[in-house]
Amino acid sequence: MPANPIVPTIPLHEDGAHHGFLRLPYSRDDSAWGSVMIPITVIRNGVGPTALLTGANHGDEYEGPIALMELAVTLAPEEIEGRVIIVPAMNYPAFRAGTRTSPIDRGNMNRSFPGSPSGTVTEKIADYFQTVLLPEASIVLDFHSGGRTLDFIPFASAHVLENKEQQAACVAAVEAFNAPYSMIMLEIDNVGMYDTSVEDQGKVFVTTELGGGGTSTARSNAIAKKGVRNVLKHAGILKGELELEPSVMLDMPDDDCFVFSQHDGLFEAMKNLGDPVEKDEVIARVWPADRTGVPPIAYVANRSGLMVSRHSPGLVKSGDCMAVVAVKI
Ligand SMILES: [Zn+2]
Repeated sequence: MPANPIVPTIPLHEDGAHHGFLRLPYSRDDSAWGSVMIPITVIRNGVGPTALLTGANHGDEYEGPIALMELAVTLAPEEIEGRVIIVPAMNYPAFRAGTRTSPIDRGNMNRSFPGSPSGTVTEKIADYFQTVLLPEASIVLDFHSGGRTLDFIPFASAHVLENKEQQAACVAAVEAFNAPYSMIMLEIDNVGMYDTSVEDQGKVFVTTELGGGGTSTARSNAIAKKGVRNVLKHAGILKGELELEPSVMLDMPDDDCFVFSQHDGLFEAMKNLGDPVEKDEVIARVWPADRTGVPPIAYVANRSGLMVSRHSPGLVKSGDCMAVVAVKI
């Protein structure tokens, strides 16, 4: 196996705050010896744990990049013990295009792990995290939100893991993040996910869904900014007390949480995010987009709970996830 071609332009193991790039050679029509320049900040103060913080794993999710750009300019080395590695836009080509996947190779970063040092641009980035950055991390925070096609109530989450000790450590870190909602999630499609790689390497892992619709809000950004500092304090890297507010615990135990459309058409939400819903209650309707005089198709919740996610665009296609209902613990 060849070595990963990414070269950092800054030292990864020196004290101080260093701002630079992960330079990934990418030869192409408009730049024969060109590179993809992925912004990175490394802040270190002596020996201690390493936190690896990432945003824009999907390029159209913005709370992570905003909170991490701010952290990179505000966190001083003297405030910490150990090291903080900040990559605000993990799938940097996708982030610059404002799309979920990379415009270079259509790579979905969160389906590209463990990656490959000789693969596509997206696979090379994944491999660099897998083989270089992740092994050195003790705690990992990866920001997500719904992107252009989904919207979420703001939550941080941990996965159901076989190793219950590791799961408990992840849940404790999720509670420290202290989003308005905290979720224990059974992943329906975990092959190729960054999450799975992080967890397989035995790390403490926090992921989030903080909003969506292809933008961020003052509220969702504030949750992200407070959450990342809380996680660093929880890890013993940043000094100071955690800032804590009440958080509602939620569970997504199985496939019954999801409602998928079987029709193309005009999407009508019948519930708002955060609303309580009963089993068999109508949560969305799909109107035919091409004619009048035809009633809508009604979609019902498969279980009682809380509406935690919804389809965001005004039009819907067959196969789209229209709603997610989680259970209050
Ligand atoms: Zn995402």
